[in-house]
Amino acid sequence: MATITHDLVLLGPPGAGKGTQARWVVEALGIPQISTGDMLRAARQAGTPLGRQADVYMSAGRLVPDEVVVGLVSERLREADCARGFLLDGFPRTIPQAEALDAELARHGRKLRTVVALEVDDETLVRRLSGRRTCAACNRIWHLEFDPPPAVDACTCGGTLQQRDDDKEATIRNRLRVYHEQTAPLLAYYERQGVLRRVDGSGTADEVRRRVAEAVGGR
Ligand code: AMP
Repeated sequence: MATITHDLVLLGPPGAGKGTQARWVVEALGIPQISTGDMLRAARQAGTPLGRQADVYMSAGRLVPDEVVVGLVSERLREADCARGFLLDGFPRTIPQAEALDAELARHGRKLRTVVALEVDDETLVRRLSGRRTCAACNRIWHLEFDPPPAVDACTCGGTLQQRDDDKEATIRNRLRVYHEQTAPLLAYYERQGVLRRVDGSGTADEVRRRVAEAVGGR
């Protein structure tokens, strides 16, 4: 009997809510969340050669070279917990990355089932990203305006809140430009494959959650 796999991609501009939505999807489906942004931030924190290389690009809001992230993801997909599926969040971001992912999956007789594209306008994204704060202790994500923490710099767990370097306004604008130039062409790429589901990413996290559930469950 064939095993059911959930090979999913969550696509969208920075601030669209990929991380927030990814968290409940992976819990509901019992699959790992693979976030290249989180993997690169962890490498940067650990001060590995890869982390130091990535830091230059990340701080400027530019994309880390394809071969670096493709290598990282290909290795991760071969781990045992991905056998029943995975949710990629923040990867692919360029056509060469998407092609490399297709090739890697094909080698294992697999294919993407669903690509959920969260759609949000640029001004909303800037507001969302500039107010975003992450707890350094428990990693909970807050928003100064939409999901206010108990204090501007403190989490309920007692940890300190931090703003990501790349969530400063000038860098946000650059990340959005990079998204429109390099990542948005993936929508047509996946549309041609018949796997694209466009989801309105505006509104509250709960509203978006209902739309994402429909998109993921509808396959
Ligand atoms: P994120 O947390 O997904 O917004 O990613 C933060 C930063 O990490 C991005 O602005 C890029 O510099 C880098 N990054 C994450 N994923 C990728 C990827 N798939 N390709 C290239 N760079 C990436």
